[in-house]
Amino acid sequence: MVILITIPFTFLAFQHAQYAKQQLYGEKERTLLTIATSLEQRIPDSFDTLVDGAGGISADDKRRVLYGKLQPILQELSLDWPGYGFGYYDKALGILALIPEEPRLLGTAATGGALKTYDTKRPETVYVSNGFTQSGEEILSINYPLYVGGDFVGHIWANVKSKDIQAAYYAELVKTFSLLVAILLIILGGLWWLIWNNKHSLTILAEHIRRGGEETAHFRDFPQIQPLLETVTDLRYRLKSEYATQVRVSAEIARLDRLNLISEMAAGVVHEVRNPMTVIRGYIQRMMLKAEDSQTEQYATIIKELDHMNDTLTAFLSLAKNRRVEIGLHNINGIIENLLPFIMADTNKAGIKAHFYPTERPLMVYADDREIRQLVLNLTRNAIEATPANGILSIKTSLVGNTVCITVADTGEGIAPWNMEKIFDPFFTTKDSGTGLGLAICKSIIGRHNGSIDVRSERGAGTVFTVELPVVA
Ligand code: ADP
Ligand code: MG
Repeated sequence: MVILITIPFTFLAFQHAQYAKQQLYGEKERTLLTIATSLEQRIPDSFDTLVDGAGGISADDKRRVLYGKLQPILQELSLDWPGYGFGYYDKALGILALIPEEPRLLGTAATGGALKTYDTKRPETVYVSNGFTQSGEEILSINYPLYVGGDFVGHIWANVKSKDIQAAYYAELVKTFSLLVAILLIILGGLWWLIWNNKHSLTILAEHIRRGGEETAHFRDFPQIQPLLETVTDLRYRLKSEYATQVRVSAEIARLDRLNLISEMAAGVVHEVRNPMTVIRGYIQRMMLKAEDSQTEQYATIIKELDHMNDTLTAFLSLAKNRRVEIGLHNINGIIENLLPFIMADTNKAGIKAHFYPTERPLMVYADDREIRQLVLNLTRNAIEATPANGILSIKTSLVGNTVCITVADTGEGIAPWNMEKIFDPFFTTKDSGTGLGLAICKSIIGRHNGSIDVRSERGAGTVFTVELPVVA
């Protein structure tokens, strides 16, 4: 910007100064011409007449006579034109009279330098030129020829010091450049103010964004930044939701950790309990052989219950992470049918009706039968616990493509929507004596069989759990 302003400005400044100089020159030239013409008019007669009036006398005498006539004229005019030099010159007699007066120069021939006329050798024309005084000062001179009867006899000259013209030229330049500097200072000052002002507003805006503000009023001065704010806001929201996800994920990890711990503890406890149970079972069996007939049935019941306990403990072991899953080809309908007596025992006690709707054909699935048993029992136990007397529990199996579905439906109290997410968490229970492990175990069993579980529930109407198992896990 400085360059853009300075270059044309400099050009104009020089032109302007040049013009001013020209003006001054012109003025001086006009004055010189005025002096020259008034000198011409003031000559009473031609040189020759003047000289002739003196009669055939010597050149020196002629000069003296002419000096006597002409010098007073010059003297008089010099009052009107102070600062100017001028005089009369005769071709043959040299300088006749001059201002400022200097007798030593009278009669000398004009030389080049002061009056360029003598360099050009054309003194018979009007001629304005630059030159130097004998003391070396710049002068502007005019040569004004004098003719007598068509003959060129001599000339008038006038000159003036022209140093002040150059000085005026420089003064003009200094003036214009001062103006330029002033203008530049004003422009730069304005720019600085503008930048400072914007910087200040930007700082406020940045602080506003940093604090999470979103009002667009702050962007009046910088609408271009609006998209930036939108990006920042968007990122902020994304970060928030990312953070929420992370919190959820770490909660899930904590849940899995807990499940893991439970599995390991369960495995340990089950192991410790099963050993003494085997001993007890052995003794009971031996006692049963020796017992009277009336007691054998009771012993058999004890053994059956012990076996049931053992089964339950084994099912519990299915929580253990490193437990080996014993996959075999099993009929899901068969497994459930075998469980029905146990389920019925519970439903009868609770005054609930139980129905089983198996598919016509056996549903053969590669699975761990003990785990499937555990799964069905956990679901039915929950259903029975949630259903009041006269309710209905229905178990249904079906085959859709390569997927086996086991549906456990009840007409119980249903699950509150806000609990829906939590029911599979270990230790989540709404029951006073619940463990909160049933559904957690179901989930891990289904996970090991590459299946899925879905729940639909309506409060006061009932709940349907649907388990899907691939025929070949
Ligand atoms: P627990 O049975 O020990 O409470 P579960 O993991 O088996 O633990 O079940 C967790 C919770 O899920 C139960 O406390 C109950 O609130 C809810 N629930 C599970 N099944 C049903 C169902 N069929 N009807 C209503 N609520 C159920
Ligand atoms: Mg339960």
